This record gives sequence, C-alpha cells and structure tokens, in this order.
Amino acid sequence: MENEKFALFSKRLITPVKLIEDAVVLIESGKIIGVENQNAFALPEGYEKIDYGDRIIAPGFVDIHNHGGMGMMVASVGKAALKPNADRLVETGCTSWLPTVNTLESLREIVEFINEKHEGGAHIPGIHMEGPFLTPKAIRGIKGIDAGLELPSVERFAEFVQAAQGYLLMMGISVELENADLIIQEMKKSDVVPAIAHSTRATYEQFMHGVEAGIRHVTHTYNVMTGLHHRNPGVVGGALTCDEVTNEIISDGYHVSPVAIDVLVRCKGTDKVCIITDNTSVAGLADGEYEIGGRQLVKKDGVTRFKDSTSDMDHTMAGSEWPIDHNVRLMVQKVGVALPEAVKMASLIPSKVVGLDRRIGSIEVGKDADIVVIDEDVNVFMTMVKGQVCFNLESLNN
Ligand SMILES: [Zn+2]
Repeated sequence: MENEKFALFSKRLITPVKLIEDAVVLIESGKIIGVENQNAFALPEGYEKIDYGDRIIAPGFVDIHNHGGMGMMVASVGKAALKPNADRLVETGCTSWLPTVNTLESLREIVEFINEKHEGGAHIPGIHMEGPFLTPKAIRGIKGIDAGLELPSVERFAEFVQAAQGYLLMMGISVELENADLIIQEMKKSDVVPAIAHSTRATYEQFMHGVEAGIRHVTHTYNVMTGLHHRNPGVVGGALTCDEVTNEIISDGYHVSPVAIDVLVRCKGTDKVCIITDNTSVAGLADGEYEIGGRQLVKKDGVTRFKDSTSDMDHTMAGSEWPIDHNVRLMVQKVGVALPEAVKMASLIPSKVVGLDRRIGSIEVGKDADIVVIDEDVNVFMTMVKGQVCFNLESLNN
C-alpha cells in the first residue's frame, strides 16, 4: 500500500463521541494521526487536502450481521461471495463487516480470504456465526427452511473455533435448546460474544437464564423470537428490559415497524442498540424473481418473500436487502433519532459489541482511517477504508 497522506476538511465532523465544527482529519499510513480545528491549523507538507465543505465526515459503518448479497450467501458459496460484497458495501458507507454464516466450510473460506489480504472493499475483521445451534423456524410450506440446523454440541463448537483461527467474534444460539448453557460457557472461554438468536420457543425466564449463563447480545431484536405479552413478556420483554445485553436492530422499516424501533431505543438508549442489515443474497440485486440456493424468491417494493408465500405461511420475509446507509437514514427520518446518535449506532456501538473499538468505530487519533462522507440525509459521497478511498461518488459522476 502506498503511504498516502490526506487532510480531510469539512464544516462538520461526527466522531461520534462529539461534534467538531470546521474540522480537519489527518491521515497517514492508513491511520488517523490528527483530529483538529481548521482555525490555527497549518497544513503540513506532503498531505493531499480534500475539502468536503458542508458535508459531514463520520466514522465508517460497521455491519456486524451480514450474510452476503449480489445473489450469493457467504454460508453457501463461501469465498466467491466475499469480494463482490465487500465492493458493494463500500458504496453504502460500510467499512467493516462480519460475514455471517453457519457452516464449517464457510468459516474456513472466510479465514482463507482474510489471509489473502485483499485490497479495496469493506474490511473483514472477523466472523459472526448465526447458528447452527438454533430452534427450527418450522414455517409450513417452505421446504428446507431449517436445513443445516444442529443440536448444541461442545465438540462441534470446538471445530468451529479451531477453523475460525481467532476470527470468530460472535455466535447466536437459541437459549431454549438443551445444553445451550454448555456452549455459552465455551464461547466465553474462546472470547466469542454469546448472542441469543432465533429463540422462538423461549420464555422470559429462559431468556434470563441464558443471560445468567453469559448471553450478552440480542440478535435482530423482535425478529424470530417470542413476542411481548403483558403476562408473558417473552424474549422481546427480556431484550427490552435487560441492561446486561446489547441489541441488534434491522432498521430497514420493513422487518420492524419504526414504532417498535422507537420502543427499543427508548428502553435501551443509543449506547446499547446497533444498526445491522442482516443482508442476504438478494441485497444489491434489482427487483424481480430469483432462484437462489434452490429457493424461489420474489423481490418487490422493498421486501423479498418466498414465491407463493401465503398468510398462513406467515408471509415470512425471505431475506433482507436494504443497505446500512438506508437503515441509518430510517433511524433519523422515521424514528426521530438525532443523526450523530444514529451514526454512533452504526459505527462505535457495533464495534464495541464485538470488541473491535480499540481499532475502529470512531474518528480518533490512533484508529484506522475508516471514514465516510455523508450529508444530512445520509447519502454517501466517499468511503475510505484504512486510508484508501474505496468509493467516490464524485468521480463516478464525472
Ligand atoms: Zn441473520
């Protein structure tokens, strides 16, 4: 990598811990080496000055839950899905992502890809496993929806940890499964953040038992979990009230209503909630009908469903397609969260959740130069990954 030096100027910078007016960010060798005010600042020699004017400099978005896109699931096609999606993600302001899988083979392939040290595209600092120790969804009429699920096994978990070579950062498990506690214990020993996922049969009491065992995170809050009833608070009741856990939210406006997102943010605050995409194969594709992984999917009007899905099949969505910039925008425009807070929920908070915040997640001296330039409406103009410009809307338009 060339030793490029940049001085990024703008009227507004979201770090996101604070706001700085008339800011300058100095970047050298892929790192942030200075965050200063333009007054009293003299540009040192050798730095390329780029002035973004009224636009906003912010930390790059960190998507800790993303299964792929461009017609490919990382869990099923492995390495082939990584580069095209890493390149797609920088267009959405995402600078780091955790490919999210549930198979041993895909773990191996992600590690191989990481070791090849590809340049350009969103960085892969680690892996998120969602499963395979999950309760079946058991949706009538959708063949193979639960393919690949396994019962909790300590031996099997050890295989995953070994294959991941230190890159497994988080794993989602259904707490109501027998021996889930044992796996949670093993996760703690291996520095894997234990998350509750797909707990469609768990009670509130089972949720709390899981938290006592070590659960620290809730996978896509509200989706695929027992709902809140005023006499049976369920997993949602626990997810909203338990301060020991952080929460993911798919804030695309389709998976969860903006009102329910608001309830979550009011209950947990912006320091506990992180914005994710949960992107699946349809992300990055145009509307239409697709056959992916043997499934017939229809992508239309912002949602993707199984073809011929009916109301008695719960009209379950068959994947998530909205990019993270959309989900940040929705948080601002439909939920009413202030822009700096929404940016924080997509950068610093997810980085903290998986223990990456010493390196990424905010614009601070010493951190990686992972930066986006956006406007008030969260349109993405430039994305820089480790000091390299990976996406530039202006040069596309020229
Ligand atoms: Zn997922």
